Amino acid sequence: MSTTSESYRRFRLKKVVDTLAEKKGLHTELITLYIPPERQMSDVLSTLRTEYGTATNIKSKSTRKNVMDAIQTVIQRLKIIPKPPPNGLAVFAGAIPHGAPGSEKMEIYLIEPPEPVNVYIYRCAAEFWLNPLHEMLTPKDSYGLISIDRSAAAWALLRGTNLQVVKTVKSGIMGKHRAGGQSQRRFERLIEQAAHEFLTRSSELTRELFEDIPDLRGIIIGGPGFTKEVFSEKGYLTSPLKDKVLAVLDTAYSGEEGIRALVEKSGEILRNQRLMKEKRLVQRFLGELARDTGRATYGERQVREALDRGAVEIILVSEGIELSRVTINCSSCGHTTERTLTPDVITRFENDLANQQCTKCQNQTLQITETQDLIEELGELSNETGAKIEIISPETEEGKQLLIAFRGIGALLRWADQA
Ligand SMILES: [Zn+2]
Repeated sequence: MSTTSESYRRFRLKKVVDTLAEKKGLHTELITLYIPPERQMSDVLSTLRTEYGTATNIKSKSTRKNVMDAIQTVIQRLKIIPKPPPNGLAVFAGAIPHGAPGSEKMEIYLIEPPEPVNVYIYRCAAEFWLNPLHEMLTPKDSYGLISIDRSAAAWALLRGTNLQVVKTVKSGIMGKHRAGGQSQRRFERLIEQAAHEFLTRSSELTRELFEDIPDLRGIIIGGPGFTKEVFSEKGYLTSPLKDKVLAVLDTAYSGEEGIRALVEKSGEILRNQRLMKEKRLVQRFLGELARDTGRATYGERQVREALDRGAVEIILVSEGIELSRVTINCSSCGHTTERTLTPDVITRFENDLANQQCTKCQNQTLQITETQDLIEELGELSNETGAKIEIISPETEEGKQLLIAFRGIGALLRWADQA
């Protein structure tokens, strides 16, 4: 999965988590199993056999049957896997209410997560246990927050939604009111000197606290008054940390209280960072089209053809498209075709298939054998052809344009396309 982008991995995982979260069992009968990469499969199977034995004690006949069936289904699937994939495995299985009231269908999902599974857990509940996958969805990058004015400063690290205030200091600088007996000028000089010393100390602390954070993606500085500007622009902050400053913001307070205000504002800033990246990608795509360089194409068919030739560098797919890729198979001759459909017409399409002849053997034995989200299917295709896929939200003007004017699918090409 080396060529998949962060945006695509997140999209896929989010999709899976959303789908699984909707599935509820009628009773405590849905099975969740997280397998870390280093776990022996023989170990896992023996856990499952023990649970199977325990399940025989369940009082309700239907629950007992469903739990035992689910465990059996998992065992069957895992038996043929010699060892867990590189990031381990998350397994979800159980009888899910389906169609008519009271009718259920056994479903099983094997998921290779984008990050290593670090818990070994078996659970049986009325719903699937998704916390470890949820955690993988929260961004892991760290951001440094500094809240500073003349009186105090605080430093914090924001990692996903986790905030850690790492240091607070008070300057001890007196207010603007002059103490008796001193000349105004001397008093002001003393204050300036103390302020300079405080900022120098803060600058040293910033290096100490932030310089060794390996994945520090950005720094946000805030505070009341102009001390924060002096701090960020007058040489107190030096490269490489200075280059990471994303924003300098006004807040009502400094110190720890100021940090809270920065966290509230940081969501917006980080979101804008992501949107800026998306905007730049679509702008590049639009630019290639406008200049007619032949290094961009759009439309599902054209992008598929470019993928086939290995010509695609980056596929841009709008998060807003709702399409499924459906595989149709003839059970008589094995002839297979694929179609892209909107999800709401699939059932009708499937019913119509029963009356259609196979183009190869003329038998009326066509059926849908696989339905996949189009974005996921394009992701797999891009992975096979060394292309990258980026998911573009429709939140920016450029993102809207990709969705509406280009029906949500475009591609940047490695070379000028003559086709
Ligand atoms: Zn056929």
